[in-house]
Amino acid sequence: MPLVETIEHDVVIVGSGIAGLRAAIEIKRKYGDRVSVGLLSKIHLMRSHSVSAEGGTAAVLYPEEGDSFALHAWDTVKGSDFLADQDAVWLFVKLMPEEIRLLEHWGLPWSRRPDGRIAQRPFGGHSHPRATFAADKTGFFEMQTLYNKLLEYDNWERYDEWFVTNIAVEEGTFKGLYAINMRDGKLYYFKAKAGIIAAGGGGRLYNFTTYAHTVTGDGYAMALRAGVPLKDPEFIQFHPTGLVPSGILITEGARGEGGYLLNNKGERFMLRKDCAPTKGELAPRDIVSRCEMKEILEGRGFVDPVSGLGYVLLDLRHLGEEKINERLPAVREIAIRYAGIDPVEEPIPVRPVAHYTMGGIHTDKYYRVLDEQGRWIRGLFAAGEVAAASVHGANRLGSNSTAECLTSGRITGILAAEYAARLRDAPTVSPERHQKEEDWVWGWLKRESGVSAYEIRNRLRKTMGEDFYVFRTGDGMKRALSTILELRKLAREKMYVEDKSRIYNTDLQAAIETINLLDVALAAVSAGLNRTESRGAHYRLDYPKRDDENWLKHSLIIRSGEDEVRIAYWPVTINTWKPVERKY
Ligand SMILES: Cc1cc2nc3c(=O)[nH]c(=O)nc-3n(C[C@H](O)[C@H](O)[C@H](O)COP(=O)(O)OP(=O)(O)OC[C@H]3O[C@@H](n4cnc5c(N)ncnc54)[C@H](O)[C@@H]3O)c2cc1C
Repeated sequence: MPLVETIEHDVVIVGSGIAGLRAAIEIKRKYGDRVSVGLLSKIHLMRSHSVSAEGGTAAVLYPEEGDSFALHAWDTVKGSDFLADQDAVWLFVKLMPEEIRLLEHWGLPWSRRPDGRIAQRPFGGHSHPRATFAADKTGFFEMQTLYNKLLEYDNWERYDEWFVTNIAVEEGTFKGLYAINMRDGKLYYFKAKAGIIAAGGGGRLYNFTTYAHTVTGDGYAMALRAGVPLKDPEFIQFHPTGLVPSGILITEGARGEGGYLLNNKGERFMLRKDCAPTKGELAPRDIVSRCEMKEILEGRGFVDPVSGLGYVLLDLRHLGEEKINERLPAVREIAIRYAGIDPVEEPIPVRPVAHYTMGGIHTDKYYRVLDEQGRWIRGLFAAGEVAAASVHGANRLGSNSTAECLTSGRITGILAAEYAARLRDAPTVSPERHQKEEDWVWGWLKRESGVSAYEIRNRLRKTMGEDFYVFRTGDGMKRALSTILELRKLAREKMYVEDKSRIYNTDLQAAIETINLLDVALAAVSAGLNRTESRGAHYRLDYPKRDDENWLKHSLIIRSGEDEVRIAYWPVTINTWKPVERKY
């Protein structure tokens, strides 16, 4: 067995999506060469899921036209079903306009109005058109621009195809992390004064998801295993327009530009009284997804003969070819290529698809990672989708995520650099910790036969799709939980890795990702079963009402044993708006 080698940086960042890159830039902008940065990504830097963000990034750009911070904050809080922390939301909306301008200065080709100013489009749940976009490839241009900017600086190192297995937290302090270099097949210890986890979401808990195969919740699982609480993992977003049968995203920009949703009677069901008569197709995602599922379950949808999936239609025909080509070129390309449908001529088959994890690593509004008592785990930050500050509460509004990646990247960049610059030496872990990590990582190679990781993750995804989807029940979640426990036992006792080599062992990586998915699933379903109300994306048929008296609080999930979690609570910061009934 190879011994762990050490690599040292002042700040290590796990993840090179929008959040990770933005954090690295901020460190360099403010501290230059004085603070060294290690930027790790399990895939090539530019392949981070952020690159596929399509529709836009929310910011208040034109107050003279009626938008305001208060309106953006209110939309976000109402969208969150009042579970967002309002101090975090205020900070977020106020920081955003400058982020759009910075990206503009760094070269991002934002789509324009005829007068040359930056264009913005409507998005679900936003009462003003504030999604700033670059056609429907917003994430691609954001990633490219950020990466370009970062190249201006020195004293940072990129570690592409380095797979982080765990973070080390001892005595309430971040003490570095462990990563396998896929190219040489060795395990390394990254010693650092501060760490920013920007490892993205967990969409691959599901089969039918908009997320890349690499999005396996590693960041959440690392946190859980290090004793760090997850906040609100029960809130998983289902986006209303996943292309049938693949699940590829058809951006909300399609409805923002005027697309309709139709049932099999040709009716715009979103305008019905029981859905969202005022906002229609542009209601928040949780509401649109539930209305769609109702159409499908009550026989007013269609059925895909090959996959058996029920669906409704997204109709863009009335927008005309010119507008579709200019504003939604990727939507057209995706529909033609993956469903054989040209949206200029035919409506697109869509259904709710797993899209975002509102919950995440428990942080304060400055994205400092907290323990259960609210004490900062010294040196540790979380940014982007993996963090829960919480800006999105029980339901995120479209275009607020790439936005939060930018603001949280910026905040954590400054704070991590400041902290690291003040500290003389990086803390170091005990030698036993190294040994523990080696045993855990290479232990997976020992078994000669058994069950493959792919089989286990497929079974997990099936369960999540059946019993932890748009509509939930206590019985369904109990069923899911018992399957998850069974699969965890199976993984521990029988999972085996066929490839025994060290170099590029993607089989080993898949096994550890499967363990990560199982850790996240246990936390999410336990929290969902515990929360006996319906709020935002967590909708229980057996408790269909929001219950502010008992449940206007965050769930904190802490790992307390091999297959056990403990649930604690955290207050919601309500400094501006008291909860009211949510109507659209
Ligand atoms: C198809 C699609 C379209 C979207 N469109 C929009 C949109 O228009 N507007 C919007 O606001 N939001 C959108 N979203 C959501 C938004 O894009 C994401 O929430 C956001 O980009 C996440 O960025 P991130 O920086 O947190 O993580 P990601 O971009 O997911 O990056 C995660 C990084 O962590 C690294 N990583 C993970 N695990 C490990 C590990 N174990 N070891 C080493 N590295 C690791 C990865 O390699 C990667 O670099 C969309 C999402 C999808 C899937």
